Amino acid sequence: MTSPDSSTRTSSDDLGARLAALIEGVRDRDGGEVDDSVPRLAEADPALLGLALATPDGEVRAAGDSRQAFSIQSAVKPFLFALALVDTDGEAVDAVGIEPTGEAFDAIVLEGGTGRPPNPMVNAGALLTAALVDGGDADGRAERIVRGLASFAGRDLEVDDDVAGSEILLGDRNHALAHLMRSEGTLHVGADDAVSAYARACAVLVDAEALAVMGATLALGGRNPVTGEQVVSAAVARDVVSVMATCGVYDGSGRWMRSVGVPAKSSVSGALVLSSPGRLGAASYSPRLDELGTSVRGALLMERLSRELGLHVFDAGRG
Ligand code: GLN
Repeated sequence: MTSPDSSTRTSSDDLGARLAALIEGVRDRDGGEVDDSVPRLAEADPALLGLALATPDGEVRAAGDSRQAFSIQSAVKPFLFALALVDTDGEAVDAVGIEPTGEAFDAIVLEGGTGRPPNPMVNAGALLTAALVDGGDADGRAERIVRGLASFAGRDLEVDDDVAGSEILLGDRNHALAHLMRSEGTLHVGADDAVSAYARACAVLVDAEALAVMGATLALGGRNPVTGEQVVSAAVARDVVSVMATCGVYDGSGRWMRSVGVPAKSSVSGALVLSSPGRLGAASYSPRLDELGTSVRGALLMERLSRELGLHVFDAGRG
């Protein structure tokens, strides 16, 4: 795979300088707490702050700690949904709901009447979509997921085994959700297998630049703008971005759409990935989180980025 280095621009140009200025504008905000659900996440340096954009011409513009590696965590969920849609020829769309929950990401709740997960952006949904990708067993599915994510990112990616191991050991709510879905007949692989594949997906290491390219691939009809690979069809990309818009920031999705107005996914590592339809992908990394598990500085950064570049999808003057 190609290295992102050849296409990366730093603050030497105008857009890069604007990104650097946006970063400086939020640097002193110190609200929120670093996630401590697993030891590796708890060790994150709260001062880290990175931002990256990937544009349709395949350029990646970045500022701050945009090459700092972190585990992707819940920012993997849109991409798991995409891979499940591909590997089931679209049937995954009926295996999960697509309605917002108004609850936390790890709520022990399934859709009333069907026993399906409420949507693919909460843990129940991602446990299920990770179980729907091709692979035969948990190892095979995890390999397929890492390969698929690498196509979205345009570079090779690796799993942090330490993070994956702790998530399997400490993810009691994910085990509970998997068993609940088994009992409802909606999860068709073993509960431990489902947790194992999902935990490894959450433990894939990325940086803001890789995540921006991943978001851009969804925003640009499923075609990776750096490598030119058609990773998923335009129809799959549209389905995924639609659900990011309604459910990507959990029970903060309504406020997010009003203030930022760009389909996005949050994660407890402190990453945010945005897919601005037809325009660009963006990602930020800043580990301190609000009570919904969204990066505090990341959300402010993205609100300002959206305003600066005119990305709000409901802005009549967007262009
Ligand atoms: N791995 C985490 C979990 O399953 C991901 C949660 C998140 O980023 N919101 O709990």
